[in-house]
Amino acid sequence: MHYVSTRGHAAAQNFSEILLGGLAPDGGLYLPEKYPQVTGAELDQWRSLSYADLAFEVLKKFATDVPEADLKALAHKTYSADVYRNARAGEDASQITPLRVLEEKDGSKLLLQALSNGPTLAFKDMAMQLLGSLFEYTLAKNDAKLNIFGATSGDTGSAAEYAMRGKKGIRVFMLSPHKKMSAFQTAQMFSLQDPNIFNIAVEGVFDDCQDMVKAVSNDHAFKASQKIGTVNSINWARVVAQVVYYFRGYLSATTSNDQKVSFTVPSGNFGNICAGHIARMMGLPIDKLVAATNENDVLDEFFRTGIYRVRKSAETYHTSSPSMDISKASNFERFIHDLLDGDSERVRALFHKVETEGGFNLAGGPGSDGDEFAKIGGFGFQSGKSTHQDRLDTIRDIEQRYGITIDTHTADGVKVAREYATPGVPMIVLETALPAKFNETIREALGRDAERPAGFENIEALPQRFEVMAADVAQVKAFIAGHTGL
Ligand SMILES: *Cc1c(COP(=O)(O)O)cnc(C)c1O
Repeated sequence: MHYVSTRGHAAAQNFSEILLGGLAPDGGLYLPEKYPQVTGAELDQWRSLSYADLAFEVLKKFATDVPEADLKALAHKTYSADVYRNARAGEDASQITPLRVLEEKDGSKLLLQALSNGPTLAFKDMAMQLLGSLFEYTLAKNDAKLNIFGATSGDTGSAAEYAMRGKKGIRVFMLSPHKKMSAFQTAQMFSLQDPNIFNIAVEGVFDDCQDMVKAVSNDHAFKASQKIGTVNSINWARVVAQVVYYFRGYLSATTSNDQKVSFTVPSGNFGNICAGHIARMMGLPIDKLVAATNENDVLDEFFRTGIYRVRKSAETYHTSSPSMDISKASNFERFIHDLLDGDSERVRALFHKVETEGGFNLAGGPGSDGDEFAKIGGFGFQSGKSTHQDRLDTIRDIEQRYGITIDTHTADGVKVAREYATPGVPMIVLETALPAKFNETIREALGRDAERPAGFENIEALPQRFEVMAADVAQVKAFIAGHTGL
């Protein structure tokens, strides 16, 4: 299996070669030359597999240069009931992403697939935990070291730290805005005592942190000498790891391959739902893929109109589903590549236009950049959006009817999923976080605290380990250089 850039100007690489990298050298994103296909016979065999064995079967179609026995061991180490232990009462942790029926009405069925039972209570663990194991494995093979440098306002940073903690050859340097994360998120990250994890609290806002990450990525000499890498959402292995739970959800919700299911996905950077698109391209019988956004509705706008218009910072809202507060969707280019039938010259031109003019228009007609919006239906995509009031209403409604507390991102998903209920086609909403992470809004909706999984009762009281630093690139670089152990 070879990987090529969406923009067509990078040499083909194998899975291990793109594992540690980010963008392709031509500024595009990596995709397989051709999507591997699944047969009906394979799907039948996969129905009874454990999550870890299913992950192995899916991964082996993409990571063809990793010896199968090693891949299988990595999948089992990653997807164990012990790692995904934060299942709710009544859920079976050994299923890793347990599926439950939420409601049945007029012949249509709404299900919830729990992706957030991992160490940081958000779905990013599903991919990041595998990435941690794959990185450690690959680095050990090449006797190499990696220093991960990133910025976070919450979910990604903690998922990365919990995935990399204690891993040989890896250190993590994570910037976050000082005193701007929730007490719970701060405690989750700062209570890690592992010597390979470095939390840097920056006196500034998230944008200051991100600017410093950009400044360091542009310093190629520093990056090379300090072996700096990233784990952002465009990483191909993260996307592949997410493909697995679409298979699991489908196989758990059906009994035969002539049935279809739809998925609704709370979306921000288009990473999660891009994995659903890939599962569908592989032949998984998915009917609709519904992108649910919050007030930051770039994706909803595109799927309704064919116009992709990225937002400026002033137009990017801070919402109560903050992990979906994005102004442009970093994985979107992968889908556009497929929508344009792999025409990498046009992909390159469109995303150049995103940089220079802030977007593009595929709705057809005079002045547009193409008419491919007419083909969207063939890819199953639909979309909808949700507001703060919708989240409060949905959280209350689900609590009252079914006795389950859902988080704000999942509430965006449930709200939109209900608008697309179709008799005879089960609709699976992906649960992307547990409510304990976004307790403020749960209090607002329900007038009480969200339940916390065992072991999280008092995390705010644990000793914290972090460095406070000015928003000063030179100071951050000096700190990194002094602690990489190179
Ligand atoms: C990251 C995140 C999302 C958005 O996922 P994308 O892959 O960026 O679309 C949704 N919900 C939660 C809780 C998240 O952490």
